[in-house]
Amino acid sequence: MNLIEDGWFHEKNKLWPGQCMSLKVEKVLYHGKSEYQDVIVFKSANHGNVLVLDGVIQCTERDEFSYQEMIAHIPLFSHPNPEHILVIGGGDGGVIREIIKHDTVKTVTQCEIDEDVITLSKKYLPNMASGYSDPRVTTHIGDGFKFMAQHPGTYDVIITDSSDPDGPAESLFQEEYYQLMKMALKPNGVLCCQGECLWLHLDLIRKMKEFCQRNFPKFAYSYTTIPTYPSGQIGFILCSLNEDTDFPEPERTLSEDEIDKLKLKYYNSAIHKASFVLPQFAKKALAK
Ligand code: SAM
Repeated sequence: MNLIEDGWFHEKNKLWPGQCMSLKVEKVLYHGKSEYQDVIVFKSANHGNVLVLDGVIQCTERDEFSYQEMIAHIPLFSHPNPEHILVIGGGDGGVIREIIKHDTVKTVTQCEIDEDVITLSKKYLPNMASGYSDPRVTTHIGDGFKFMAQHPGTYDVIITDSSDPDGPAESLFQEEYYQLMKMALKPNGVLCCQGECLWLHLDLIRKMKEFCQRNFPKFAYSYTTIPTYPSGQIGFILCSLNEDTDFPEPERTLSEDEIDKLKLKYYNSAIHKASFVLPQFAKKALAK
């Protein structure tokens, strides 16, 4: 998979035909094949270290905080008392780093399929992987789809921080996986999953919205801006077993002092609300 040419990494992929994010490479730090995927870590010219799985940018040190903060804090601030959290995927550790900022959280369980991603993230992405040392965190190495069925009624919040539905994460975008998450949630539980991009994947998002609404009393779609993801944006699929959940209205709002204390660089209560306001083309497409 030769995606590094003339000193640049080019993210060419069939999931975003005809477009391509390129980052200037200063040094390739690691390139190998794990049991599940091709793994590259490189030092970029101005985005810090970058993790790439099967040719797809997973995170860069420069802008990862946008995604990690939103996928963690939107569900956690949508639940009245989040104590037991499950993360599927999330090998770089950034979502765990955000979850443990919540004092209500008692346990964080992670099920990540590829141990190489965790090992390499601890070595090359130390700021993201910092959460792994928290005593509340337990990591299992395995397939999140299989793990889910073994833990009924266990979690207040489930966050699926997966790669794209092309490769080991394919099963995590299916209705059966959402039915398994529903079983694994406690009463009034909330889930949040990586929900691809409004500019590129509206058909997939609409299909997921339909099966989410069949299985959960509450569904919502939110998104964040992030320069190094395709089209500069990525979304989140949110479901709740609590029919009173109003996702755009956080259960708890933050003062500027609290935002500083939590060391947040993207999330705040206003952007929580705004992230659910969809552009007209997406609103109409998802309303069908
Ligand atoms: N933020 C990134 C994004 O939006 O694409 C995802 C980052 S994280 C590195 C994605 C993780 O999902 C990877 O570590 C990958 O190994 C893991 N993963 C993929 N399929 C999985 C599965 N079936 N079970 C558990 N983890 C999985």
